[in-house]
Amino acid sequence: MTDEAAPGEAGTRELRARRLDETDPLPTLRAEFLIPPAPGGPYEEAAYFAGNSLGLQPKATAARLAEELTDWSRLGVEGHTQARRPWVSYHELLTEPAARLVGALPHEVVAMNSLTVNLHLLMASFYRPSGERTRIVIEDSAFPSDSYAVASQAVHHGLDPAETVVRLRPRPGEDNLRTEDVVDYLRREGNRVALLMLGGVNYLTGQLMDMATITRAGRAAGAVVGWDLAHAAGNVPLSLHDWDVDFAAWCTYKYLNSGPGAVAGAFVHERHVRDTTLPRLSGWWSTRADIRFRMDPEVAHPPTADAWALSNPPIMALAPVLVSLEIFDRVGMTALRAKSERLTAYLAERLAPIGGVRVITPDDPAQRGTQLSLRVADAGGLVKALADEAGVIADAREPDVVRLAPVPLYCTFHDCHRAAEALAKLT
Ligand SMILES: *Cc1c(COP(=O)(O)O)cnc(C)c1O
Repeated sequence: MTDEAAPGEAGTRELRARRLDETDPLPTLRAEFLIPPAPGGPYEEAAYFAGNSLGLQPKATAARLAEELTDWSRLGVEGHTQARRPWVSYHELLTEPAARLVGALPHEVVAMNSLTVNLHLLMASFYRPSGERTRIVIEDSAFPSDSYAVASQAVHHGLDPAETVVRLRPRPGEDNLRTEDVVDYLRREGNRVALLMLGGVNYLTGQLMDMATITRAGRAAGAVVGWDLAHAAGNVPLSLHDWDVDFAAWCTYKYLNSGPGAVAGAFVHERHVRDTTLPRLSGWWSTRADIRFRMDPEVAHPPTADAWALSNPPIMALAPVLVSLEIFDRVGMTALRAKSERLTAYLAERLAPIGGVRVITPDDPAQRGTQLSLRVADAGGLVKALADEAGVIADAREPDVVRLAPVPLYCTFHDCHRAAEALAKLT
């Protein structure tokens, strides 16, 4: 019998979790979020660990949406200029907070579309195979959308994806990629690589990549370096500008709590925003805002990431993103990251003695974000039992990975305690 299962000590463990919550330097902002009811078990509220998949709803979101709906009802088309937040320039309200979130200059970011669409728009500019340099390098455990996107880009350029797309694998017997192996590949094969596009935090393993080192190695090899930040934005601090990243994109419905399918973000380094030789797919929102309504037949790109936007953006879908960015601005990524490290370390400590569960996320806090991925026997069955019997919401990546993300905005040490107790009982 493991310590976790020893009877009579659960109370002591629970007390310790409660005390950690009471004494943490960053008190939980749980009260600002709508926590789903527990589907089962003794507690009213769910212990929600799926914020890496769909973040919870801030209470402020509904009121903000109501304001936009009211302005639309009162003003009709005049809302473009007369709304309390005029729609014609609404997306610009997101620019500065988004830039702070990802470590960019304001003219390097834009809120638009969804993540995979943004990856394609950015690859339209930045994946330019020529001669021997045609390869796209991703990680073997890439999210399927990224795999499909890069394969279809190869086809779009008349190339065979089987020869063009390289999938980097961990060493045999290991769960995660080693930075040195990525760098080594780039040193050996870099002259054939047109684009390196990895996840900043891997969706499956939770591994946080050394983005600074890998970007440097990729660019030194002459490749373009783009990052998919779906699991990194709002999870870990980022310095895209200083790291000299060429481009990046992220969604806002995971750690950024902006609602299902919410408007995504994109980053283009300032080295590129003035480059008129780059091919760009354009629409009327790609042209300079000050002359847009002259309705000229020729596009005039502004020297900003806005030049990659195509359409007038969905205001009802931007409003929740703005609410979310206001929360991140108020709390700050530094404080959130510190709390995330404390919560994740506590959860890891509680999971370590449990038999039947093996954490595959790196143990080193510098190589992981909030999420811990567990290898288990039956991921789907375990996730269902966690919900039904303990009100713990996790997610399964079949057949054998369960992901738990103690999101620092609304998850507590007590939530981690609940997850550990339930896992000890169910595995
Ligand atoms: C969540 C996620 C996506 C989802 O793509 P959408 O275009 O937002 O549907 C893509 N890539 C990665 C790495 C993800 O984690």
